[in-house]
Amino acid sequence: MNENTLNLVSHLNYKMSIGMLNLSPEGLLKSFKLRLTPCRQEVISLFIDVDYALSNSSLEEKVGKDYDRVTIYRTLRTFLDKGIIHKVLDDEGTPKYALCREACDTHDHNHDHIHFKCLECGETNCIESVIIPKLNLPDGYKYKEANVLLQGICKECNA
Ligand SMILES: [Zn+2]
Ligand SMILES: [Zn+2]
Ligand SMILES: [Zn+2]
Repeated sequence: MNENTLNLVSHLNYKMSIGMLNLSPEGLLKSFKLRLTPCRQEVISLFIDVDYALSNSSLEEKVGKDYDRVTIYRTLRTFLDKGIIHKVLDDEGTPKYALCREACDTHDHNHDHIHFKCLECGETNCIESVIIPKLNLPDGYKYKEANVLLQGICKECNA
């Protein structure tokens, strides 16, 4: 067994609770009917482990020596399409991504939580307990999704 295989095995054994569900990276991929690949497992483990949104470049920094950019990009695309991760837009110009803790489905994200960017550490978090209120649009407009970003100091930096 080489080091990568060992890493993979420890990820597999590592159960993480996502919201109310208790899922391993493997279980999560399986529940979305996704084939297990080393890159998918490693990327999903990262999303489970960190509690802030990750950009493409920060993912490349973490797993870029094992997988090329195209593989990482495709993995993100797949997770996004399946409803495993969602886009988090902050003021940095490039999108970040975070785990969907609500019941999201293929091509159907159901988010109404806000995102919070910390001005001190620069990390952006999902705050699922704060819900974006329903806003009334003028006639003729059709609502699809909302991105609400609040900025300030996060609870770690504020401690
Ligand atoms: Zn989602
Ligand atoms: Zn902070
Ligand atoms: Zn979010």
